[in-house]
Amino acid sequence: MANYGNNVGIVPLTDAAGITQGFKAGKHYGIDIGWYKEKYCNILAWQDGQVEAKGYYSDTGYYVVLGHYYGSSKRWTCYIHMKQAACVNVGQKVSIGQKIGIRGTSGNSTGVHLHFYLTKLITKTKAFSFSNLKQYAIDPRPYMYYDPGFNTIYISKDWTKKLPAPIPDVVDPVSRDITKDQIICHEADLRVRTAPSLSAEKLGHLLKDKYYNYLDSRQTDGYTWYQLAPGQWCAGISSLEVLPANVFYKVIEGDTIPAICERFGISIESLVNMNPAIIQPGDVLKVKE
Ligand SMILES: [Zn+2]
Repeated sequence: MANYGNNVGIVPLTDAAGITQGFKAGKHYGIDIGWYKEKYCNILAWQDGQVEAKGYYSDTGYYVVLGHYYGSSKRWTCYIHMKQAACVNVGQKVSIGQKIGIRGTSGNSTGVHLHFYLTKLITKTKAFSFSNLKQYAIDPRPYMYYDPGFNTIYISKDWTKKLPAPIPDVVDPVSRDITKDQIICHEADLRVRTAPSLSAEKLGHLLKDKYYNYLDSRQTDGYTWYQLAPGQWCAGISSLEVLPANVFYKVIEGDTIPAICERFGISIESLVNMNPAIIQPGDVLKVKE
Protein backbone atom coordinates (compact mmCIF):
# COMPACT_ATOMS: atom_id res chain seq x y z
CA MET A 1 0.00 0.00 0.00
CA ALA A 2 1.14 3.47 -0.72
CA ASN A 3 2.18 5.49 2.26
CA TYR A 4 -0.92 7.59 2.83
CA GLY A 5 -1.50 6.88 6.47
CA ASN A 6 -4.43 4.90 7.68
CA ASN A 7 -7.38 4.48 5.35
CA VAL A 8 -6.51 7.28 2.96
CA GLY A 9 -6.31 7.04 -0.82
CA ILE A 10 -5.95 9.24 -3.86
CA VAL A 11 -8.24 11.49 -5.88
CA PRO A 12 -9.70 8.70 -8.07
CA LEU A 13 -9.28 10.40 -11.46
CA THR A 14 -6.45 11.53 -13.71
CA ASP A 15 -8.30 14.80 -14.50
CA ALA A 16 -10.19 16.28 -11.55
CA ALA A 17 -11.34 19.87 -11.75
CA GLY A 18 -13.21 20.02 -8.48
CA ILE A 19 -16.40 19.04 -6.76
CA THR A 20 -19.53 20.10 -8.63
CA GLN A 21 -21.82 18.70 -5.98
CA GLY A 22 -20.79 17.93 -2.42
CA PHE A 23 -21.88 15.28 0.07
CA LYS A 24 -25.27 15.98 1.64
CA ALA A 25 -26.45 13.51 4.28
CA GLY A 26 -29.79 12.01 3.30
CA LYS A 27 -29.71 13.56 -0.17
CA HIS A 28 -26.47 13.09 -2.06
CA TYR A 29 -24.44 10.22 -0.67
CA GLY A 30 -21.17 10.98 -2.42
CA ILE A 31 -19.44 13.71 -4.37
CA ASP A 32 -19.55 14.64 -8.03
CA ILE A 33 -16.15 15.35 -9.52
CA GLY A 34 -16.10 17.44 -12.67
CA TRP A 35 -13.54 17.70 -15.41
CA TYR A 36 -11.03 20.29 -16.57
CA LYS A 37 -9.43 19.15 -19.83
CA GLU A 38 -10.27 15.52 -20.38
CA LYS A 39 -13.93 14.60 -19.75
CA TYR A 40 -13.44 10.93 -20.50
CA CYS A 41 -10.33 10.49 -18.38
CA ASN A 42 -9.44 7.34 -16.50
CA ILE A 43 -11.09 6.48 -13.21
CA LEU A 44 -8.47 5.19 -10.78
CA ALA A 45 -8.71 2.88 -7.80
CA TRP A 46 -8.80 5.03 -4.67
CA GLN A 47 -6.60 2.56 -2.81
CA ASP A 48 -5.52 -1.09 -3.03
CA GLY A 49 -8.54 -3.35 -3.01
CA GLN A 50 -10.65 -5.92 -4.78
CA VAL A 51 -13.61 -5.59 -7.15
CA GLU A 52 -16.78 -6.60 -5.29
CA ALA A 53 -19.42 -5.65 -7.85
CA LYS A 54 -19.88 -4.13 -11.28
CA GLY A 55 -22.82 -3.69 -13.60
CA TYR A 56 -25.40 -1.30 -14.99
CA TYR A 57 -28.59 0.19 -13.59
CA SER A 58 -30.76 2.78 -15.29
CA ASP A 59 -30.06 5.35 -12.54
CA THR A 60 -26.39 4.69 -11.74
CA GLY A 61 -25.36 3.81 -15.28
CA TYR A 62 -22.18 1.70 -15.41
CA TYR A 63 -20.78 1.25 -11.93
CA VAL A 64 -17.99 -0.57 -10.16
CA VAL A 65 -17.48 -1.22 -6.45
CA LEU A 66 -14.17 -1.85 -4.69
CA GLY A 67 -13.62 -3.27 -1.21
CA HIS A 68 -10.56 -1.99 0.69
CA TYR A 69 -9.67 -4.33 3.55
CA TYR A 70 -8.24 -3.57 6.99
CA GLY A 71 -8.21 -6.76 9.04
CA SER A 72 -11.82 -7.78 9.68
CA SER A 73 -13.13 -4.42 8.42
CA LYS A 74 -13.39 -2.79 5.04
CA ARG A 75 -14.51 0.30 3.23
CA TRP A 76 -16.31 0.40 -0.07
CA THR A 77 -15.62 2.87 -2.81
CA CYS A 78 -18.10 3.04 -5.67
CA TYR A 79 -17.79 4.82 -9.00
CA ILE A 80 -20.90 5.49 -11.09
CA HIS A 81 -22.03 7.08 -14.40
CA MET A 82 -19.02 5.50 -16.14
CA LYS A 83 -18.75 5.77 -19.91
CA GLN A 84 -18.78 2.02 -20.36
CA ALA A 85 -18.47 -1.18 -18.35
CA ALA A 86 -15.57 -1.25 -15.88
CA CYS A 87 -12.33 -2.67 -17.26
CA VAL A 88 -11.84 -4.84 -14.15
CA ASN A 89 -13.86 -7.88 -13.10
CA VAL A 90 -15.50 -9.04 -9.89
CA GLY A 91 -12.92 -10.75 -7.67
CA GLN A 92 -9.97 -9.04 -9.35
CA LYS A 93 -7.40 -7.35 -7.10
CA VAL A 94 -6.52 -3.78 -7.95
CA SER A 95 -3.76 -1.48 -6.75
CA ILE A 96 -3.96 2.16 -5.84
CA GLY A 97 -4.07 4.31 -8.98
CA GLN A 98 -4.92 1.42 -11.29
CA LYS A 99 -7.34 2.25 -14.11
CA ILE A 100 -10.73 0.71 -13.39
CA GLY A 101 -12.87 2.53 -15.96
CA ILE A 102 -13.57 5.75 -17.84
CA ARG A 103 -15.55 8.73 -16.57
CA GLY A 104 -18.81 9.31 -18.43
CA THR A 105 -22.45 10.25 -18.09
CA SER A 106 -24.34 6.95 -18.29
CA GLY A 107 -27.54 6.47 -16.30
CA ASN A 108 -29.38 9.34 -14.67
CA SER A 109 -26.77 12.06 -15.25
CA THR A 110 -26.85 15.45 -16.92
CA GLY A 111 -23.19 15.68 -17.92
CA VAL A 112 -19.83 13.95 -17.74
CA HIS A 113 -18.72 13.58 -14.13
CA LEU A 114 -17.74 10.93 -11.63
CA HIS A 115 -20.04 10.33 -8.70
CA PHE A 116 -17.74 8.85 -6.08
CA TYR A 117 -18.89 7.08 -2.93
CA LEU A 118 -16.81 6.08 0.10
CA THR A 119 -18.09 4.33 3.20
CA LYS A 120 -16.98 4.26 6.79
CA LEU A 121 -15.43 1.04 8.07
CA ILE A 122 -17.89 -1.84 7.94
CA THR A 123 -17.68 -5.58 8.53
CA LYS A 124 -15.58 -7.24 5.86
CA THR A 125 -18.24 -9.87 5.11
CA LYS A 126 -21.07 -7.41 4.37
CA ALA A 127 -22.49 -8.00 0.90
CA PHE A 128 -22.73 -5.08 -1.49
CA SER A 129 -26.01 -3.37 -2.31
CA PHE A 130 -26.69 0.26 -3.15
CA SER A 131 -28.90 0.60 -0.08
CA ASN A 132 -26.03 -0.65 2.13
CA LEU A 133 -23.68 1.70 0.30
CA LYS A 134 -25.91 4.70 1.04
CA GLN A 135 -26.38 3.66 4.64
CA TYR A 136 -22.62 3.72 5.32
CA ALA A 137 -21.53 6.46 2.92
CA ILE A 138 -19.47 9.36 4.30
CA ASP A 139 -17.99 12.50 2.78
CA PRO A 140 -14.89 11.22 0.94
CA ARG A 141 -13.00 14.51 0.84
CA PRO A 142 -10.87 14.04 3.98
CA TYR A 143 -9.87 10.61 2.67
CA MET A 144 -8.49 11.67 -0.69
CA TYR A 145 -5.01 12.90 -1.38
CA TYR A 146 -3.77 14.52 -4.51
CA ASP A 147 -0.75 12.59 -5.72
CA PRO A 148 1.06 13.97 -8.77
CA GLY A 149 2.16 10.40 -9.53
CA PHE A 150 -1.45 9.48 -10.35
CA ASN A 151 -3.42 12.71 -10.68
CA THR A 152 -2.14 14.59 -13.70
CA ILE A 153 -4.65 17.45 -13.45
CA TYR A 154 -6.16 18.55 -10.22
CA ILE A 155 -7.70 21.90 -9.37
CA SER A 156 -8.38 22.19 -5.71
CA LYS A 157 -10.60 25.26 -5.47
CA ASP A 158 -13.74 23.23 -4.84
CA TRP A 159 -12.10 21.10 -2.20
CA THR A 160 -12.67 22.52 1.23
CA LYS A 161 -9.46 20.97 2.46
CA LYS A 162 -6.16 21.38 0.74
CA LEU A 163 -4.74 17.97 0.15
CA PRO A 164 -0.99 17.58 0.53
CA ALA A 165 0.95 15.13 -1.57
CA PRO A 166 2.45 12.58 0.79
CA ILE A 167 5.76 11.30 -0.52
CA PRO A 168 7.39 8.43 1.34
CA ASP A 169 10.92 9.66 0.53
CA VAL A 170 10.57 12.40 3.13
CA VAL A 171 11.37 11.54 6.73
CA ASP A 172 8.45 10.86 9.02
CA PRO A 173 7.27 13.44 11.51
CA VAL A 174 8.17 12.97 15.17
CA SER A 175 6.71 14.17 18.43
CA ARG A 176 7.73 17.39 20.14
CA ASP A 177 11.08 16.89 21.90
CA ILE A 178 12.72 19.87 23.56
CA THR A 179 16.07 18.08 23.59
CA LYS A 180 16.16 18.04 19.77
CA ASP A 181 16.35 20.80 17.17
CA GLN A 182 12.93 20.76 15.53
CA ILE A 183 10.81 22.53 12.96
CA ILE A 184 7.08 22.60 12.41
CA CYS A 185 5.39 24.04 9.32
CA HIS A 186 1.96 25.62 9.73
CA GLU A 187 1.19 25.38 6.03
CA ALA A 188 0.63 22.39 3.77
CA ASP A 189 2.98 21.52 0.93
CA LEU A 190 6.32 22.99 2.03
CA ARG A 191 8.72 21.36 -0.38
CA VAL A 192 11.59 19.18 0.62
CA ARG A 193 14.52 19.31 -1.79
CA THR A 194 17.72 17.37 -2.31
CA ALA A 195 19.94 20.38 -1.46
CA PRO A 196 19.56 23.83 0.18
CA SER A 197 18.65 25.59 -3.06
CA LEU A 198 15.42 26.59 -4.81
CA SER A 199 16.71 24.93 -7.98
CA ALA A 200 17.38 21.59 -6.28
CA GLU A 201 15.17 18.63 -7.10
CA LYS A 202 11.91 18.27 -5.16
CA LEU A 203 11.50 15.13 -3.12
CA GLY A 204 8.15 15.71 -1.46
CA HIS A 205 6.44 17.82 1.14
CA LEU A 206 6.31 18.34 4.85
CA LEU A 207 3.01 17.55 6.49
CA LYS A 208 1.25 20.53 8.00
CA ASP A 209 1.58 21.07 11.76
CA LYS A 210 3.90 18.09 12.35
CA TYR A 211 7.25 18.20 14.09
CA TYR A 212 10.44 17.16 12.31
CA ASN A 213 13.93 16.98 13.72
CA TYR A 214 16.60 18.88 11.82
CA LEU A 215 20.31 18.15 11.67
CA ASP A 216 21.75 21.34 10.28
CA SER A 217 20.82 24.76 8.94
CA ARG A 218 22.35 26.92 6.24
CA GLN A 219 21.78 30.29 4.56
CA THR A 220 21.40 30.16 0.77
CA ASP A 221 19.10 31.58 -1.92
CA GLY A 222 17.72 34.10 0.57
CA TYR A 223 16.43 31.49 3.01
CA THR A 224 17.60 29.65 6.05
CA TRP A 225 17.45 26.00 5.03
CA TYR A 226 16.94 23.12 7.42
CA GLN A 227 18.30 19.66 6.81
CA LEU A 228 15.91 16.86 7.80
CA ALA A 229 18.12 13.98 6.70
CA PRO A 230 21.07 13.57 4.33
CA GLY A 231 19.96 15.05 1.00
CA GLN A 232 16.67 16.48 2.36
CA TRP A 233 16.30 20.20 2.91
CA CYS A 234 13.45 22.64 3.28
CA ALA A 235 13.41 26.43 3.22
CA GLY A 236 12.58 28.43 6.35
CA ILE A 237 9.49 30.20 5.01
CA SER A 238 7.46 32.43 7.33
CA SER A 239 5.04 29.68 8.35
CA LEU A 240 7.92 27.45 9.43
CA GLU A 241 8.44 27.62 13.16
CA VAL A 242 11.95 26.76 14.31
CA LEU A 243 12.28 25.16 17.74
CA PRO A 244 15.95 24.72 18.59
CA ALA A 245 16.78 22.21 21.29
CA ASN A 246 16.57 23.37 24.87
CA VAL A 247 15.91 26.98 24.04
CA PHE A 248 12.31 27.01 25.15
CA TYR A 249 10.48 25.03 27.75
CA LYS A 250 6.75 24.90 28.45
CA VAL A 251 6.02 24.90 32.18
CA ILE A 252 3.79 22.09 33.41
CA GLU A 253 1.87 21.70 36.65
CA GLY A 254 4.24 20.71 39.46
CA ASP A 255 7.40 22.25 37.94
CA THR A 256 9.60 24.26 40.26
CA ILE A 257 12.04 26.98 39.28
CA PRO A 258 15.05 25.14 40.76
CA ALA A 259 14.08 21.91 38.97
CA ILE A 260 13.77 23.70 35.62
CA CYS A 261 17.16 25.38 36.16
CA GLU A 262 18.80 22.11 37.06
CA ARG A 263 17.33 20.37 34.04
CA PHE A 264 18.74 22.95 31.63
CA GLY A 265 21.94 23.66 33.56
CA ILE A 266 21.28 27.35 34.15
CA SER A 267 21.24 29.53 37.26
CA ILE A 268 18.02 30.81 38.79
CA GLU A 269 19.32 34.31 38.18
CA SER A 270 19.72 33.80 34.44
CA LEU A 271 16.30 32.09 34.14
CA VAL A 272 14.72 35.07 35.86
CA ASN A 273 16.63 37.53 33.67
CA MET A 274 15.43 35.86 30.46
CA ASN A 275 11.77 35.53 31.47
CA PRO A 276 8.84 37.43 32.98
CA ALA A 277 8.74 37.77 36.75
CA ILE A 278 5.74 35.52 37.30
CA ILE A 279 5.94 32.01 35.89
CA GLN A 280 2.86 29.79 35.63
CA PRO A 281 2.04 26.39 34.10
CA GLY A 282 1.59 26.76 30.35
CA ASP A 283 4.15 29.58 30.05
CA VAL A 284 6.92 29.02 27.54
CA LEU A 285 10.26 29.91 29.10
CA LYS A 286 13.53 30.72 27.48
CA VAL A 287 16.05 28.39 29.05
CA LYS A 288 19.16 29.04 26.97
CA GLU A 289 20.87 32.34 26.13
ZN1 LIG B 1 -23.82 12.71 -7.76
